[in-house]
Amino acid sequence: MIRANDNYSKLKASYLFSDIAKRVNEYQANNPGTHIIRLGIGDVTQALVPAVIKGFHEGVDEMAKDATFRGYGPDQGYLFLREKIAENDFKSRGADISPDEIFVSDGAKCDTGNFQELFATDIKVAIPDPVYPVYLDTNVMAGRTGEFEDNRYRGIVYMDCLKENNFLPKLPKEKVDLIYLCFPNNPTGSTATKEELKLWVDYAKENKALILFDAAYESYIRDEDLPKTIYEIEGAREVAVEFRSFSKTAGFTGTRCGFTVVPKDCMIYSAKGEKVSLHSMWNRRHTTKFNGVSYPVQKATEAVYSQEGKSQIKEQIAYYLNNADVICKTVESLGFDYVGGKNSPYIWVDGNGRDSWEFFDLLLTKASVVCTPGGGFGRCGKHYIRISAFNSFENVTLAMERVKEALK
Ligand code: PLP
Repeated sequence: MIRANDNYSKLKASYLFSDIAKRVNEYQANNPGTHIIRLGIGDVTQALVPAVIKGFHEGVDEMAKDATFRGYGPDQGYLFLREKIAENDFKSRGADISPDEIFVSDGAKCDTGNFQELFATDIKVAIPDPVYPVYLDTNVMAGRTGEFEDNRYRGIVYMDCLKENNFLPKLPKEKVDLIYLCFPNNPTGSTATKEELKLWVDYAKENKALILFDAAYESYIRDEDLPKTIYEIEGAREVAVEFRSFSKTAGFTGTRCGFTVVPKDCMIYSAKGEKVSLHSMWNRRHTTKFNGVSYPVQKATEAVYSQEGKSQIKEQIAYYLNNADVICKTVESLGFDYVGGKNSPYIWVDGNGRDSWEFFDLLLTKASVVCTPGGGFGRCGKHYIRISAFNSFENVTLAMERVKEALK
């Protein structure tokens, strides 16, 4: 008898964004012609910048001639791209990462989801609440949790991120083996200083634990003092893996490219306590289950690091951050507390005790504006909503005018 992986039955029945889509579609059907402004799902809205399109075209043109055609490429990514990444994203910030520690992939969702495969089932996993749901759900699928009760999976160590702790997870009281961190954070938009990250690196070293650091939004960091990579922290090479994405950096949500950094110093342990190279394990996994990102996409990604690419992308990010400023000012003028929006495209708004779905419905029905109810990211998001800066300036301005009118 073919048996199902019963862990899947523990997963919450529906996905946050399909619930939102259902409510939005219903509202649209009942209010035909209404212009709904979507500041919910974190998807970019601006086209790829000209330098990236040029790189993309060059890659496609090379594929059109036998002499320059490429078939299967290196599973880890072309060296021309990994060299650019190592130089621009790490060495330029004093972080010692070499091209052969970089694994190019089709995005951070797959990598953050797949990476847990390398660990035993009975490890203790610490996950922030609220959280990007992929970390949690993939551990549920792998059987590292018990049932879902009272909005939480049994067996997971949840790290509450609340106003009291500046939306930063605190070091867990009990010993954990695997720690998920994400800065700038989705959904809260909070950031962590070098000193704050150092506490985690020290904790991981002391406890033979590993940090999975999701830096998908690092390009939104404006504050010069904030770290853009965990490898700016001394000792992180031994205890941290970093995930990056070109989705929010360069508008690649539909183009698909990201990468994972696994330093060669990173060790995990066998059941007998012997050291195992995480780099070798991920290399084995990646080369067995992944066949590389397409050549034109890697050429397009390489262009992200050209002079024109860098300046065009900087402008695009400034555009979204300007939208974020508009949202922050509106939220503030209405008397709501919030975090994020400064070094992040997300603004996490405290609904003053209002349930997050109730707040969502209010904005949808009174302002025709879509946000994301914080409850969908975990128990600690129950009284928050997330507003995203990914839309046109005109739509964001109009949405904020409507929100002001609806809530005044
Ligand atoms: N990590 C975080 C924190 C995200 O918010 C997202 C996307 O929203 C991803 C990873 C996924 O990125 P990608 O598009 O590269 O799969």
